[in-house]
Amino acid sequence: MSVDRPYNFSPGPAILPLSVLERAAEAVKSLALPDPALEARLSILEISHRSPTFERIHERAIERIHDVIRVPRTHRVLFLQGGASLQFAMVPMNLRQAGRAAAYVDTGVWSKKAIEESQRLGPTEVIASSKATRYDHIPAFPPSETYADASYVHITTNNTIYGTEYVDMPKLEGGVPLVSDLSSHIGSRPMHLEHLALGYAGAQKNLGPSGLTIVFIESSLLDRTLDPSVPTMLRYAPHAEANSLLNTPNTFAILVLDLMLEWIAEIGGLEGMEAHNRRKAEALYAALDRSPLYRSHARKEARSLMNVTWTLAGRDEEDVTARTKRFLVAAERAGMCGLKGHRSVGGCRASIYNAFPQAGVDALCEFMREFERQGG
Ligand SMILES: *Cc1c(COP(=O)(O)O)cnc(C)c1O
Repeated sequence: MSVDRPYNFSPGPAILPLSVLERAAEAVKSLALPDPALEARLSILEISHRSPTFERIHERAIERIHDVIRVPRTHRVLFLQGGASLQFAMVPMNLRQAGRAAAYVDTGVWSKKAIEESQRLGPTEVIASSKATRYDHIPAFPPSETYADASYVHITTNNTIYGTEYVDMPKLEGGVPLVSDLSSHIGSRPMHLEHLALGYAGAQKNLGPSGLTIVFIESSLLDRTLDPSVPTMLRYAPHAEANSLLNTPNTFAILVLDLMLEWIAEIGGLEGMEAHNRRKAEALYAALDRSPLYRSHARKEARSLMNVTWTLAGRDEEDVTARTKRFLVAAERAGMCGLKGHRSVGGCRASIYNAFPQAGVDALCEFMREFERQGG
């Protein structure tokens, strides 16, 4: 099948490999599995989430989260709904302990939303922030005294909107659980997930379609005693007990996740993804750094491999706005979509997740040179 597809730089829902889309499309018509069960010939949209056929898909996806993404076996993998945004509330509801505040590192819009949900529910402390410099870096990790009494510490390891990323996964002292929102870089490279007590990610950036949230939680954390008013659907333990079949899961998204994980394994697993993602990011940052017209938002030491953010130079604000608009319109005309920056940063953002091809980055770099040559 030949398909004329634009280069999709969208921050999410984001690009998926054509081969995955084609297999997902086939599965919408019929799973066509070599299995005598009649349901094996139904559509993925039609089969029961409790059928052995779906169970096999579900189990394989969980296995691949362990094998391909390297979530340690000490952790339970859950497939939930409500997006990463619901985790902003579920984390404090499930992990905060009486008399012990929750500690957060503030690195941008998404961490701020996580902080706000925690504040709604109980005592919350912000132990580090990069707000003063418009979230252009990751603050130095605070000393252990600042979080020694905390119920947990929450970080956002890739900041989708500002384009910053933790280079190394922090490792906490004193047994305080570390929690991370990994939504926009899960599966993009090896990253010591064993340092985390809990990690979560909406699937729609790097691993599949929307409507599926991947959560992994250290089994021992499932035993924390909760306020009896916390509803069943918002507790991790019943989801773990029911193996994420407490209610009807997003069966289609789980199938596509499984296809994506298989695709990552075929590219060479996390090492293969990292090589592919670094090559793309380096090319794009080099294009930004060599030109006075483009200004990278993130500081060099904290640049995200997934979301590359920049603004355009100009005489004054009006000139910058007009030039940015020209840039985006011309980029669309050249077959590149999704490059508009988030309103809180302005400018442009290229989201170059796992499935984004090198050829698309090369095309963007070439387009940027040409736009500059023509006077911007
Ligand atoms: C996109 C994003 C979210 C929100 O995800 P939803 O699944 O839409 O709730 C949260 N955190 C980060 C880091 C994100 O990139």
